[in-house]
Amino acid sequence: MNEFIQKRNDLHVFENLESNVRSYCRSFPTKFQRASGYQLWDMEGKAYIDFFAGAGALNYGHNPPEMKKKLIEYLTMDGISHSLDMATEAKESFLTRFNDVILKPRGMNYKIMFPGPTGTNSVESALKLARKATGRQTIMSFTNAFHGMTLGALAVTGNKFKRSGAGVPLNHTLSMPYDGYMGKDVNSLDYIESFLNDSGSGISLPAAVIVETLQGEGGINTASNEWLSGLADLCKTYGMLLIVDDVQMGCGRTGSFFSFERCGIIPDIVCMSKSIGGYGLPMALTLMKPELDLWEPGEHNGTFRGNNLAFITATAALDYWERPSFSYEIEAKAVLVRDVLEEIVIQVPELKGEIRGRGLMQGIAFEPGIAERISILAFQRGLILETSGTDSEVIKIMPPLTIERAGLESGLQILKECIHDIANEANLLIAQQ
Ligand SMILES: *Cc1c(COP(=O)(O)O)cnc(C)c1O
Repeated sequence: MNEFIQKRNDLHVFENLESNVRSYCRSFPTKFQRASGYQLWDMEGKAYIDFFAGAGALNYGHNPPEMKKKLIEYLTMDGISHSLDMATEAKESFLTRFNDVILKPRGMNYKIMFPGPTGTNSVESALKLARKATGRQTIMSFTNAFHGMTLGALAVTGNKFKRSGAGVPLNHTLSMPYDGYMGKDVNSLDYIESFLNDSGSGISLPAAVIVETLQGEGGINTASNEWLSGLADLCKTYGMLLIVDDVQMGCGRTGSFFSFERCGIIPDIVCMSKSIGGYGLPMALTLMKPELDLWEPGEHNGTFRGNNLAFITATAALDYWERPSFSYEIEAKAVLVRDVLEEIVIQVPELKGEIRGRGLMQGIAFEPGIAERISILAFQRGLILETSGTDSEVIKIMPPLTIERAGLESGLQILKECIHDIANEANLLIAQQ
């Protein structure tokens, strides 16, 4: 590397000035400059295939041209940028389109709330509303759940390391085993119900249950359709509200717009963020059944609930969902991913990989250490891949939903090569012993 190039990718400004809390820049240590579709380029001009997609905030890829055009037009005509929660044309268009394209065709009747612009803001509003609506205090959540970093959302998050950052007790919550947590043959709902219907269990009835249909951050654990509909029944029986946190799995990550469409449940409250803004722009929604809309005006507030630039791109993003073929395309790409992962796992049995996930949120779980090695090697070869799970034991494949087949195949090819190289290294070590 010549000196000039080294300088262009130099990271000392971040090391000197930015807090130690920074994280992804450590996993992907270069300086990015441009991005388009499923690719990013750093200062050196090196291209990277993006199999991380902003943790699910870039489901439609980087700088999608049709959204960019609408955004530029809006900026050029001096459209409102920030509006608190005042009525604007951009917000009206979004609300109307969201109702027409998403809610109505699915027979859903939700009131739409704009909390602050992040996922954790939506979760906080959902928890607060559930407590207000039921007069109960406890929220039931699940092992390995991830719901965000603010105190309320952190209290329903499983990860010990993240929880320990709170500095105060995280209470009024109840963590229960997710589907599969007690082993393949145990239905954890039976265990949960045994607490709920026993007056000696020491547990007061929760206001709500908050659940991810597929745990993205927690290790790509998928709940079955039966388990999810059983959970919805349990909620009805015990008067608990069902909150689905669709912040990461929504907006098509698992194929359908909402991740819960596959099991036919209609949650009482739905949390959305990440890709709802469409262009990686901050925006969040909390959907609630109309009878739960018990807020007093201004009772839950926030300065950044009117990001009109996000309303413009969010509205444009809904165009994808007018075509039924969009879901089929996601499914077809998911099959391609699954086929390659199966091939890899069979080719390197010594790494004992276990395939997880569905849609364009899939991965392979390994013994701790391996997924992190894969991520490092992949980055060197121009592929951005994150790990997930408490021990970072799962390598996570979550490209933009709009990725072209060729891009998907190239990324998977790099992944395959990295895993083979790691298997070879391991075999060499064993041979030397
Ligand atoms: C990312 C995420 C959140 C938190 O969203 P932020 O925008 O980071 O606050 C909440 N729930 C789930 C399932 C997520 O993936």
